[in-house]
Amino acid sequence: MTLSNLEIAALAGVGIFCAITIKRHYCGFGPFGPMHGFGPWSHGPWRGYGYGPMLGYGGSCGPMRGHGPMGYKNGFRSASYRFDQLNLVGKTPLTHDVDHYTFALASSDKPSTQIPITAPVLLKMPTGEARPFTPIYNSDKDYLHFAIKNYNRSASGALSKMPIGSSGVSITGPLPHIDLQNTEGKFKQVYLIGAGAGITPLWSFLTSSLNKSDSQTKLKLIYSNHSKEDIIFKEEIDELKMKYPNRLDVVHVLSEADYEANYTGRLNPEILKNEIDYVGPDAKVLVSGPPQFISMVAGTKRGPPFAQGQLGGALREIGFTKDQVVKF
Ligand SMILES: Cc1cc2nc3c(=O)[nH]c(=O)nc-3n(C[C@H](O)[C@H](O)[C@H](O)COP(=O)(O)OP(=O)(O)OC[C@H]3O[C@@H](n4cnc5c(N)ncnc54)[C@H](O)[C@@H]3O)c2cc1C
Repeated sequence: MTLSNLEIAALAGVGIFCAITIKRHYCGFGPFGPMHGFGPWSHGPWRGYGYGPMLGYGGSCGPMRGHGPMGYKNGFRSASYRFDQLNLVGKTPLTHDVDHYTFALASSDKPSTQIPITAPVLLKMPTGEARPFTPIYNSDKDYLHFAIKNYNRSASGALSKMPIGSSGVSITGPLPHIDLQNTEGKFKQVYLIGAGAGITPLWSFLTSSLNKSDSQTKLKLIYSNHSKEDIIFKEEIDELKMKYPNRLDVVHVLSEADYEANYTGRLNPEILKNEIDYVGPDAKVLVSGPPQFISMVAGTKRGPPFAQGQLGGALREIGFTKDQVVKF
């Protein structure tokens, strides 16, 4: 699952394609249809996801923005495709298998560290494997922050072994994503439904929204984990609940019985029906987790990570429409 020189060269070529609107919410590429893997990418490093990296988006359309390195004005280079080298400057444990990684851009000609909220980037490891990860904040002008789970496998395993000060990781992006930048204050109620390390895009939205002092948006985080020890940002969540008692509500669903659990067992449609009481047009739902989790909550995603598929699952039964739901 490595990026060969040929693939990198092909990726640069992808940037000449102009993004056109295929559907109201999506961008697509010329003859390839909406969000479809193409060229060497359909069997390239992203084949596990059924699509190519699709960087080099030339433009944006509607809420689904294609902020590739060639499209995002404050992105990682405007004129040519490339990975930028990162220095690993910090690593602190968040749970027993998730660490907070802090990276600085190595180049003095620095592109921006301020990735649009909820947008993933592609990190390439010294071993050559590249995987998408979602920065957890975009408010730091100097550093990039990630919460990354160690699966003791290819990319996450390689990253976990890197010493502080090493410079073998490189970055490109942001990858195509549904644009939620500057929308945090526009909703009356946002439900953030996540499982495990899937919290990363939800966290960037949640902290960004709460930090906006003029926003009155109410947020409800419904967070599913195996045990209390697996809850990422546990202390921060508790602090934010205390700080914003009228804006933030948190529901913990834990497989293992624990006094911290609002529900014991796996998240299921009955819990969601119990916890979601507002489906008005100014309600939004963000869902992030493994594929089976997303299917149960909101219906199966089809295609690349930013493709949405039809709305299904519990949220459809509750009464939401497709436009109200974002699946990560
Ligand atoms: C848009 C997007 C954003 C993401 N953001 C983040 C993020 O912010 N933080 C984060 O931690 N991850 C994130 N991920 C997941 C990340 O990209 C990688 O998939 C993850 O780190 C695993 O990569 P790997 O190379 O370590 O494992 P791979 O070798 O690619 O293995 C991946 C799969 O194998 C499974 N697996 C693990 N161990 C075993 C085993 N022993 N036997 C069989 N299967 C196993 C895992 O469940 C995983 O599904 C994101 C994914 C996407 C698509």
